[in-house]
Amino acid sequence: MSKPFEVPQMTVRLFNTLTGELDPLVPIDGQALRMYACGPTVYDYGHIGNFRTFLQIDILRRFLLLTGTRVRHVMNITDVDDKIIRNAAALHMPIGEYTAQFERAFFEDLHFLGVQRPEIIARATEHIPRMVELIQELAEAGAAYQTEDGSWYFRLAAFPEYGKLSKKDLSGIEDGARVDLDEYEKDSARDFALWKAAKPGETFWDTPIGRGRPGWHIECSAMAMAYLGESIDLHAGGEDLMFPHHENEIAQSESVTHKPFSRSWMHVRFLLVDGRKMSKSEGNFFTLRDLLLKGYKASAIRLALVSVPYRHQLNFTFDGLTEATNAIERLRTFSQRLKQANLAPGANPALQEAAQKAQAEYMAALANDLNTAEARAPIFDLIRTANTAIDQGQLLAEDREAILAVLASFDAVYDVIEDRDAEPTRRALEWAEKAGRMEDVAQELLVRQSTTDEDIDALVAERTLAKRQRNFARADQIRNELAEKGVIIEDSKDGVRWKRK
Ligand SMILES: [Zn+2]
Repeated sequence: MSKPFEVPQMTVRLFNTLTGELDPLVPIDGQALRMYACGPTVYDYGHIGNFRTFLQIDILRRFLLLTGTRVRHVMNITDVDDKIIRNAAALHMPIGEYTAQFERAFFEDLHFLGVQRPEIIARATEHIPRMVELIQELAEAGAAYQTEDGSWYFRLAAFPEYGKLSKKDLSGIEDGARVDLDEYEKDSARDFALWKAAKPGETFWDTPIGRGRPGWHIECSAMAMAYLGESIDLHAGGEDLMFPHHENEIAQSESVTHKPFSRSWMHVRFLLVDGRKMSKSEGNFFTLRDLLLKGYKASAIRLALVSVPYRHQLNFTFDGLTEATNAIERLRTFSQRLKQANLAPGANPALQEAAQKAQAEYMAALANDLNTAEARAPIFDLIRTANTAIDQGQLLAEDREAILAVLASFDAVYDVIEDRDAEPTRRALEWAEKAGRMEDVAQELLVRQSTTDEDIDALVAERTLAKRQRNFARADQIRNELAEKGVIIEDSKDGVRWKRK
């Protein structure tokens, strides 16, 4: 694909939860934007709600890169917590072995969805000494105390600004009331666990502050500051992390540094599925793998999950997935047509202007708080205009270059035009086989996958021969047979082309 336009240095504005305003996102050190995004707790396969958050952060990351902003992006992997310890113990497995399978699956899923890998991946279990140091610093500052069982807690009363991110009224904080769960009920602020003393039989680390393991909140403060410094540019995560997790991260970090922990905070809203909260008991809970096995393409899932701007609730439906599938088909068909069209030299001023306008509107929509819905519209408008121009012989060679450049900058962020859908589907099927999930594979997908390129080529050749022999009934029969296998054939003056749906 052509190189994107020379994109002017552009400032991205993002809604900052902390200030309640659209703030410009610029690296304070003038070098690279230092961003930290909370990663997964690896105790299960990721669901589409998790992936919506990672995808929206990927859109931000890619757009920053497109506008010429360098990024230093850190994501943590929570590979020790209450659930992990409980589940691994039930399976009589060391926690590292238990989490490794889900961590591998998580990165595979991100790869399927086209999510770029952050510069730094930080595992909690590999940063225990840094967390212990931070707890010691908190204790020295009078913000942490140890209880009789050997656990350590953060003293909320030591941080009067607690609540400034979530804007919750926490005036009823009870001094000394404690909670030791990693997640606790909303609207209740209590002293929270920094370090949990080991109970008999539990995994523990032997450290200067005792035998035990870190709480969830301390890991993000410790690792964000270890890789990005005391004050970072942006901290991102799902909306459910705002309170208490992010509020606790601020309290832990700022009690020690007395500097703003992160200047900007981005929170991605959760999605609904068919208008309802996604839950296993409602039967509307989907992992990425569930959808791949139903025959949906990874690119369509990516586009559907970013189709609504990150601050709005997305109502995920199968109709929405079909709409995304069709939109991608339009993009790909147009891109192919444009590349293969036989064009006269020269430039058509009207089309040059249309390309410039589409590019400018696309960039402006994303720069304005990542409006992923608005950003799509000018691209599809341009496709309509260009298709008509090709039909009428008015699109010239230089117009092709200009329009391909617009498509390239669209794909630098959306990443759906280039077709990489075969691999995720194939690997999901291999996984289903191993995981005993074959009964969940859509029949259509099985038929489609069992048809090789050679099978298709042979049928296409047979059809061409049948047509030459004026056996149109057989030719139509073959066309229908291919359609059932998900193959579309197109007759053109250059011969017969086929593609998989
Ligand atoms: Zn976190």
